[in-house]
Amino acid sequence: MAAIDGLPSLAQVIRTHDLVAKKQLGQNFLLDLNLTSKIARCAGDLTQCDVLEVGPGPGGLTRGLLAEGARRVLAVEKDARCMPALAEIAMIYPGRLEVVNADALGLDISAHLTPPVRVVANLPYNVGTELLIRWLSPEHWPPFWQSLTLMFQKEVAQRIVAKPGDKAYGRLALLAQWRAEPKIVMSLPPEAFSPAPKVHSAVVHLTRLEQPRFEANAAALSRITAMGFNQRRKMLRSSLKAMGPDIEAKLTQVGIAPTARAEEISLEQFCALSRLYD
Ligand code: SAM
Repeated sequence: MAAIDGLPSLAQVIRTHDLVAKKQLGQNFLLDLNLTSKIARCAGDLTQCDVLEVGPGPGGLTRGLLAEGARRVLAVEKDARCMPALAEIAMIYPGRLEVVNADALGLDISAHLTPPVRVVANLPYNVGTELLIRWLSPEHWPPFWQSLTLMFQKEVAQRIVAKPGDKAYGRLALLAQWRAEPKIVMSLPPEAFSPAPKVHSAVVHLTRLEQPRFEANAAALSRITAMGFNQRRKMLRSSLKAMGPDIEAKLTQVGIAPTARAEEISLEQFCALSRLYD
């Protein structure tokens, strides 16, 4: 029995339900409930929140979220084999856990959540990055979520929090920092997971900003940063040539040297440039 909720240990749950990890679903499970409770605490005060958990698997993080007092957890899991294990958790937390067996990439679940909403997930890294980009790029801001607490490969986490001049600085940093405040809140070695992946991992906590950090033309910002970072070693006057014949004048107008490279330019400067394309 596990100390946090009286349910069997995760190793036992995996044995009972024969949840052999599937590589194609990116299944690297967390088995230590002290660790999953710690991740749940990184998400902030959950007692007044609905939590959207994506990819609960055998339920380690789900149990952490519920033990830490989440008002309600809505968990979306693609693998039908996990449903019986998750149903056992739902039984001991009546009315607080709802499980949906679906692919999170093909589902808009936000309408089924009552604000304030926090999102927490330990997902395969490719799915996690795709969802992060979606959650950061809704048509209207503020979005349905108040915070995102997500596990990533360490290198991806570094790309999210990178600053100008860092090797990891690029479009993901700009997207994440334009309308949110991202922080790396925990680092995990491969041995924290079963089976152990080849890479180190990190948990990133993003708090949404009510207003974008700087005013910008979202479409132009996306186009400029795509062009600038697709050819990151080129000077902006040549990587941004397709923005029009007056690109050098526009760069100068917002205080960017036309000979500078994208990796040296701050979010504030990119936003200022984007505003010239209204
Ligand atoms: N949260 C559990 C934990 O921490 O031990 C499991 C983490 S495991 C890295 C990722 C989980 O995401 C797996 O249970 C996998 O089946 C699920 N998953 C993968 N792709 C998914 C998708 N597109 N939609 C929903 N769940 C997905």
